[in-house]
Amino acid sequence: FVVPEFKTFTDFIDNIYDKCKDNFNGQPAQYIPQLARVSPKHWGVSVCTIDGQRYDLGDTDTPFCLQSVVKPLNYAMTLNDLSPEVVHKYVGQEPSGQSFNELTLDYQHKPHNPMINAGAIVTASLLKKGLVIADRFDYAMDQLRRFAGGEHVAFNNSVYLSERATADRNFALGYYMRENHCFPKEADLVETLEFYFQLCSIEVTAQSGAVIAATLANGGICPTTGDRVLDSDAVRNTLSLMHSCGMYDYSGQFAFKVGLPAKSGVAGGVLLVIPNLMGIFTWSPPLDQWGNSSRGVQFCEELVANFNFHNYDNL
Ligand code: GLN
Repeated sequence: FVVPEFKTFTDFIDNIYDKCKDNFNGQPAQYIPQLARVSPKHWGVSVCTIDGQRYDLGDTDTPFCLQSVVKPLNYAMTLNDLSPEVVHKYVGQEPSGQSFNELTLDYQHKPHNPMINAGAIVTASLLKKGLVIADRFDYAMDQLRRFAGGEHVAFNNSVYLSERATADRNFALGYYMRENHCFPKEADLVETLEFYFQLCSIEVTAQSGAVIAATLANGGICPTTGDRVLDSDAVRNTLSLMHSCGMYDYSGQFAFKVGLPAKSGVAGGVLLVIPNLMGIFTWSPPLDQWGNSSRGVQFCEELVANFNFHNYDNL
């Protein structure tokens, strides 16, 4: 086992979980009723090691939407299919230093990176772009289910409808990017935006999310099924950008303090990857000022205070 004394490890997880439970900072995302209505009390942590040891604590089988957590997965799926050279003709690799939905492009008139809305919308326009939209959605769902080893991956239609109905900023981003020739020629703008909202509306649980995180930690092989779902270069590139850009405009501080690739979403999920060791998924809806789950960020910070998981520990 990669974590031989698993019980000792999970006792620490219990302690950190309890500490974070007392964190009442922030509130759930309010921009759509489907997120505003979710209880701020939910708090779940799931762990899946690269050799399949599991630990679940709290609300780990309640579904919630990936939202921005789908961004690295969308990017990874796209890289699996197109070379990084092709993908990065359309999207950069630079932290934007601005909020996730900022109306801004880089000096080459490309979105800064695939982890913010602009970059994720362009990446969505690339994902299996030769297929019709229904098949592209099926492809994304099938791939995500493989990442999750067949565990819970579903689609939340009311979140999708709400997202689409309140998407002025994302439409603005879309038109601004079309004006700047950011999309491949064949891309249809409205279809691309709808596809992006659909991707954001895909649901997981902390448990299935931990398996997805563990697949990334394991270089693209799902630890519970042995299925190779991503090639290792796609994983490397994805983790690199999660490390520098995964936590919105808190990414630099997060990289400094935690030193691990992670991605948060406005539904309160945080996907954390400890390469060659384990995937962790935390879920708690109240968000901090950057839009990251307050308890999720605290959990990650407490974790590296207890274990030498930071990329630059052990030197
Ligand atoms: N659907 C949200 C948006 O596009 C997702 C963003 C997020 O999780 N930060 O604005």
